Amino acid sequence: MSAFDELMAFQRETEALGQIMGRLGWDMETMMPKGSANQRADEMEALDGVLHGRRTDPRIGEWLDNAEAPDATGQRQLDEIRFEFDRQKRIPAKLSAELTRTTALAHRAWIEARKSNDFEAFAPHLEKVLGLSVEKGEALADGGDPYDALLQDYEPGASGAELDQMFAELRPRLVALRERVQGSDRVVPELKGDFDIDAQMRISAKLAKTFGYDFEVGRIDKAVHPFSSGSGRDVRITTRTDAKNPSDCFYSTIHEVGHACYEQAVSPDLYLTALGSGVSMGVHESQSRIYENQLGRSRAFTGHLFGLMREEFGDFGIDNEDDFYAAVNRCAPGYIRTEADEVHYNLHVALRFDLERELVSGRLSVSDLPEVWDARFEADFGVAVDQPANGCLQDVHWSEGLFGYFPTYSLGNVYAGCLHAALRKDVPDLDASLLEGDTSAATGWLRENVQKFGKSIPAKELIEQATGKAPSVGPLADYLDTKFGDIYGV
Ligand code: ZN
Repeated sequence: MSAFDELMAFQRETEALGQIMGRLGWDMETMMPKGSANQRADEMEALDGVLHGRRTDPRIGEWLDNAEAPDATGQRQLDEIRFEFDRQKRIPAKLSAELTRTTALAHRAWIEARKSNDFEAFAPHLEKVLGLSVEKGEALADGGDPYDALLQDYEPGASGAELDQMFAELRPRLVALRERVQGSDRVVPELKGDFDIDAQMRISAKLAKTFGYDFEVGRIDKAVHPFSSGSGRDVRITTRTDAKNPSDCFYSTIHEVGHACYEQAVSPDLYLTALGSGVSMGVHESQSRIYENQLGRSRAFTGHLFGLMREEFGDFGIDNEDDFYAAVNRCAPGYIRTEADEVHYNLHVALRFDLERELVSGRLSVSDLPEVWDARFEADFGVAVDQPANGCLQDVHWSEGLFGYFPTYSLGNVYAGCLHAALRKDVPDLDASLLEGDTSAATGWLRENVQKFGKSIPAKELIEQATGKAPSVGPLADYLDTKFGDIYGV
């Protein structure tokens, strides 16, 4: 066997073990008995040790030195493996195992703390996770900026400074739009009443199919925080239900379906290789957000969803498609990021981006976090946080050590804006099929232009190739201005 073939075979087994690690994480949040958390931490730590050993195996360095790529994709495989190998080598095995164990326990503590609104109970866990994450960032940065180093796990090639610039362009346009919307005297209706949970799950399953999710190699379960997990031939999603708020369930489902469809659509040639999954969190989020918002919350598609809801729930207080469209796009300065409308969403992300950079740099301590969060929230949204579960305890990310993840949400929205503009140009009559509940023209376009490539094209290049332009904030901001200007008559 050539060095290239040996490396590919070795990588394939590592990728398979990585998928198993993902499945343990999925199980932890869906099926695992509550009392099993400690044993699960041991199990994941053990597997992490195996994975770390493989990812830093000195043979990889030898194979890389001797391998000759048969083609451009092969070269990209080698580049990706080298990037990961160089990063992994910098993280001591002990630190990696400790992070896995600590975050498994912190995750469980976060669920309990959020339920009981008890930041004090979570704070020691967060301190530990933060400390280890900073240690990891420093090990990776090699004298550079630890936050930028952590960011590479989610958005290879991006920098904190570049994201700062993105928020600097986006934020004033969002604030201006929010002010116009708040000044509008148009009353947008709200969904009211109790919506049967089983019926919500039935509609969720229909929506997932409508957006092209393949249940032969996927499934939907419930979890506290909706997520998608896995690649290739086993991609699972979770959603959540609230009897008062069926939109949360439906749009969480469509969002996760966007992530899952991306993973399911990666070219089979790339399965269980270094290139066999989404290229970056930003591009991943562009898929989930374009499914959820530009498509799922469009006037055309909400017309279809309105029909599905009438079938399941009968009369629910809204009797026409236009009011329903306005209702699912209602703007309000709510506490919860995952429930935020498109106008407020990126303001939530900007807050987290700024605070986590402060935490990682040491300029902000964990004990001061609730106070600083609440002050910033009140300044940005005009309302005071009422309880920690609605403030700094709401998101799962920091309990899992995912510092550097948040800004990729907004980057994803910016990419979604660029892709949507290009999609509408290529498929000018898209709304006619969306109204019928047929998303195939849009999802097919995304599959061909983005999803099938996996990691074989770097993020920015991929968006530029798909849209014919370098990514920029303009298309997203223009889309939001037009859509919400129209709904609110401003
Ligand atoms: Zn997402």
